[in-house]
Amino acid sequence: MTTITNYVQAASIEMALQALADNKMSGRFLAGGTSLMPILNLLRYQPGVTHTLIDIKHIEGLRTIELQADELVIGAAVTLSELTKHQLVLEHAPVLVRVAKVIGSREIRNRATLGGNLCSGDPRADLLLPTMALLARLQFVHMDDPNVMGMSEFLAQGNRARQHAILTHIYIPIAREVRWGYSRLAEKSMGRCNIAAMALVAGESGSLKEIGLVVGGEALWPQYFTGLHIGSGAKGSILTLAEKVVSEIAAGKVGWSDYRTATAVTVVYEALEELMNNEANA
Ligand SMILES: Cc1cc2nc3c(=O)[nH]c(=O)nc-3n(C[C@H](O)[C@H](O)[C@H](O)COP(=O)(O)OP(=O)(O)OC[C@H]3O[C@@H](n4cnc5c(N)ncnc54)[C@H](O)[C@@H]3O)c2cc1C
Repeated sequence: MTTITNYVQAASIEMALQALADNKMSGRFLAGGTSLMPILNLLRYQPGVTHTLIDIKHIEGLRTIELQADELVIGAAVTLSELTKHQLVLEHAPVLVRVAKVIGSREIRNRATLGGNLCSGDPRADLLLPTMALLARLQFVHMDDPNVMGMSEFLAQGNRARQHAILTHIYIPIAREVRWGYSRLAEKSMGRCNIAAMALVAGESGSLKEIGLVVGGEALWPQYFTGLHIGSGAKGSILTLAEKVVSEIAAGKVGWSDYRTATAVTVVYEALEELMNNEANA
């Protein structure tokens, strides 16, 4: 059986980092536990594996949502339920609310946190897409080295970013006016996404020249395409763009099936189509 040798309830970021330093091999941050605990359950038959859970969800500074200058600053331990109901998030980052609402069930969202979702090490984590599309920056704090990074750097660093530091805050710029289209396919009714796409256009409505598109999902860390063009805006040209983007993603990917291409094209198409409709109604 796996033995959880230690449980530390951290009252501050410093205490959490100290506990991590004291338990170099076995320390793991625990937020909502909805991703971590199922993994630890699976590992319980590995003899000799031990873990020290460092509970960070009671650290007060990690549970706040506030405006600072022209950024929305969200604490990493804010739960998804808190996120979806908060007036500042509804007002300044509604797309985050929209995506958070499709995650798991109400019970899961009551425990799961934004930071836990981003740090779960799973490319299917749904909040990676809107966080990237919103050009969010992530504040990680190491023992003596705070480090703010963009999503691309975070994804490039992979485990290194998460394992030795605590994600404390997510900074979302709120100045640019953005319109969205979003689509997601999950094969299980309450499960992580297989493929998801978010299309966006910034600036004044009617200027659909420069479209951004973020696509991610199973075995696919989110990729951000910028400067895309839809041509006439007719359904045929939306489909052409969707096929072009997906063939770029699929190029060189081992095990990428025709089924995956078909579902990805559909999801990208739907995101672009919704963006077009929203733009037309703006
Ligand atoms: C039934 C079910 C359905 C689910 N459906 C979805 C879904 O639809 N979409 C989806 O994206 N996910 C889904 N999940 C996965 C999970 O619920 C989410 O990813 C959730 O947001 C994880 O957050 P948490 O707070 O529970 O993370 P935890 O489980 O506490 O932590 C996850 C990982 O992140 C690390 N971590 C947590 N916080 C920090 C931090 N601040 N700094 C550094 N590292 C940190 C932990 O050490 C751990 O490795 C589902 C899970 C279940 C059980």
